[in-house]
Amino acid sequence: AKEQMGNSHCFFEKEWNSNTESKLSLTRKLRRALENDELLIYYQPKFQIASGQISGMEALLRWYDRDTGMMVPPKEFIPLAEESGLISSIGEWVLKHVCTQMKHWLEGGYPPLRVSVNLSPQQFQDDKFVDTVRRILQETGLSGEYLEFEITERVLMKNEETVHQVLRTFKEMGVFISIDDFGTGYSSLSYLKQFPIDVLKIDQSFINNITNDPDNASITSAIIQLAHNLNAEVIAEGVETEEQLHFLRDKQCDAVQGYFISPPVPPHDFAGVLKQHLV
Ligand code: C2E
Ligand code: CA
Ligand code: CA
Ligand code: CA
Repeated sequence: AKEQMGNSHCFFEKEWNSNTESKLSLTRKLRRALENDELLIYYQPKFQIASGQISGMEALLRWYDRDTGMMVPPKEFIPLAEESGLISSIGEWVLKHVCTQMKHWLEGGYPPLRVSVNLSPQQFQDDKFVDTVRRILQETGLSGEYLEFEITERVLMKNEETVHQVLRTFKEMGVFISIDDFGTGYSSLSYLKQFPIDVLKIDQSFINNITNDPDNASITSAIIQLAHNLNAEVIAEGVETEEQLHFLRDKQCDAVQGYFISPPVPPHDFAGVLKQHLV
């Protein structure tokens, strides 16, 4: 099953290429895709090293373009959605779907996993964003403690006051906050003590060649220490090999995410992934 998933990922990386369509026609198609429910969510498990169990998953947006029969990679259409303002509606769609799915999984007897959703900076500029989140949690009946928001350092640098208040409100709802792509953003770390951060996600560019690049190895170790000193959890993304996992385990990293454990999978395949990792 693992090989099959690997292949479907390769298919998705290779076939689509950004020259095939103009920005404008893509944006138009994206809008239609949203209206016609042509977007999908894949889930990638997060693996807790100490327990050897799945502790949660990240929701990753997919767009199956029916015209071409290809998957459009998020790095092609998320920036378009951000530029065109469509990201607010897409973000709402994602959140509604993820919370509904998670509620369904919990009711179906899944262990209490936490699902994370990526947020774009533009979503924080929407005055109604907090209310939308609150409403979706209410409507789906999902408790905030099962939800985590992944934000990047870009978010924290913009409209500090507003962002601060929004994050506080999310904390009050029990929602977890993580810093995505940690280490790739801004040089100032002072925001770490200003904002209520629960998780640092070490960017995959550090993990890539962690076992033969001493610089990446020391940066990774330092981030792990930093996270623990701040009483935050730390997770490494883009873990592809056993050697990387062993390195991270030795450095006391809490969790890993990456193809070595599992690629992102469609929701109906997630039960299988969970079963593989039951101790
Ligand atoms: P990200 O949040 O940093 O997500 C991690 C990306 O790394 C995902 O790419 C994932 O499929 C990929 N990945 C996971 N494990 C491995 C591995 O072992 N090796 C390698 N090389 N890659 C791995 P994906 O799914 O293509 O998503 C790309 C980006 O699109 C995400 O980066 C995130 O910034 C954005 N994105 C995805 N879904 C959403 C969404 O719902 N909302 C927003 N605002 N952004 C999203
Ligand atoms: Ca992420
Ligand atoms: Ca990331
Ligand atoms: Ca990234």
